[in-house]
Amino acid sequence: MTIFEKIIAREIPAKIVAEGETWLAFHDISPQAPVHVLVIPKKLITRVGAADPEDAAILGTLLLAVQEVAQKTGILETGFRVIINHGRDGGETVPHLHIHVLGGRPLGWPPG
Ligand code: AMP
Repeated sequence: MTIFEKIIAREIPAKIVAEGETWLAFHDISPQAPVHVLVIPKKLITRVGAADPEDAAILGTLLLAVQEVAQKTGILETGFRVIINHGRDGGETVPHLHIHVLGGRPLGWPPG
């Protein structure tokens, strides 16, 4: 069981921002910007490159959840960045799909 499944099961605490039937959004424990929220599916999809066509609806719902998170955290107007890390070179550390939502300051480009 990954740490994110334990958060979904409320076995370990998290600062929850918003929740839907199929997804959960909570503050990253090690924020890289004034706003740094993770949006995850409640269903275990390990990583974006391992999603199935049958996951299309949940993948779309996750992006709509990002919009809700941005609105709730006050960065919808100022701007934000959405990041999904996949695999070694992507910097993935938790094998449960998660969308990083970062904002609250100007973000550099290109990313590191
Ligand atoms: P990634 O490196 O893309 O796999 O992102 C994993 C993210 O999960 C990192 O930004 C971590 O800071 C974050 N993280 C790990 N454990 C927790 C936790 N218990 N609560 C909230 N965020 C966490």
